[in-house]
Amino acid sequence: MRRIPLSAPDLGPDDRARLIQTFDDGWVSSAGPVVEAFEQAFADHVGLAHATATSSGTAALHLALHMLDLKPGDAVIAPTLTFIGGVAPIVHAGARPLFVDSSPDDWNLDPALLDAAFAKARTEGLTVRAIVPADLYGQGCDIGAIGAVAASHGVPVILDSAEAVGAMVGGRHAGHGASAAGFSFNGNKIITTGGGGMLASDDGALIARARSLAAAARIPAVHYEHAEVGFNYRMLSLSAALGLSQLPTLEAKVNRRRAIFDHYRGRLGGRYGVDFAPEAPGRRHTRWLSVMVMDREITGVSPERLRLALAAADIEARPVWKPMHLQPAFRDAPVLQNGVAETLFAGGLCLPSGSSLTGADIDRVCDVIEATLDA
Ligand SMILES: *Cc1c(COP(=O)(O)O)cnc(C)c1O
Repeated sequence: MRRIPLSAPDLGPDDRARLIQTFDDGWVSSAGPVVEAFEQAFADHVGLAHATATSSGTAALHLALHMLDLKPGDAVIAPTLTFIGGVAPIVHAGARPLFVDSSPDDWNLDPALLDAAFAKARTEGLTVRAIVPADLYGQGCDIGAIGAVAASHGVPVILDSAEAVGAMVGGRHAGHGASAAGFSFNGNKIITTGGGGMLASDDGALIARARSLAAAARIPAVHYEHAEVGFNYRMLSLSAALGLSQLPTLEAKVNRRRAIFDHYRGRLGGRYGVDFAPEAPGRRHTRWLSVMVMDREITGVSPERLRLALAAADIEARPVWKPMHLQPAFRDAPVLQNGVAETLFAGGLCLPSGSSLTGADIDRVCDVIEATLDA
């Protein structure tokens, strides 16, 4: 039986053709029309006015944070329950992360804790300069509520929408409502460019500066003039070619991931002590990953035992993100908790969710889970 991976790239003949055409046209580096075409297509798709393509989602978020000109003594509020890709750039940009726990309604940064987080920063002698919420597992955060608190404190929101390409919040694509949003096309995300990201915004000046910073901040002059110090963060044309062929398949891939989630929930959701990630009203969760949560007191089975049983059947599952405040790298970071992140880490398991998985694959996963829970 074949291995069932967590979230493999879903590539087809159109992707191959586009890649080879771009190669044959001689566009392999960042130069040429292909990157720009992908930027325009992506901006059009999500309905944001401007976008600049980057070598990764982390790089996109780093550019946005770099432009805030952060200083020692500055803090940036981030969710503790997330992947480090939205948090590392806070440190690289010269500030300290202040971690805030999740809402049980959507698992994202809890707006109800934000005022207390600003107060905590003050008692620690830190100045909050921005909020970087994440759209976890494919569900947009409550950007309206988070944006309102940010505005009341006079700080911008930089949105880590890396996991939420294709998600909707109140009828708009994830990424709206912030100063800028970073997206990821890493190999495990819903659509992929191999590796890559995008910074998108309605603010044309912000994206123009990010685009310049990503290309070593070269002022157009034959001798390369630099008024500031930039990065080498541009996306390659070969990646952008895949982006152009993958983007039209996004809706179908989201629908497939949602169907996979419904398949899991249909078979396993009725069990006492087993639950699945919520979808908040007014949002379209992409179900980038299908996440199951177990109450160990009731099931008597830990997520780790279940993960090992799946691994023995050549099926890849992963724990929910280990909260940032539990990471050795952030042992000294301030954190504001309500217990949700630690509960989800203790009970959650991410199940195989790739859009190329078949119904038979999902049944095979469910068979192992049922057998383990019934053992
Ligand atoms: C994938 C991801 C990123 C960015 O990842 P890259 O691999 O740098 O493209 C950032 N934040 C979160 C929450 C992610 O899942």
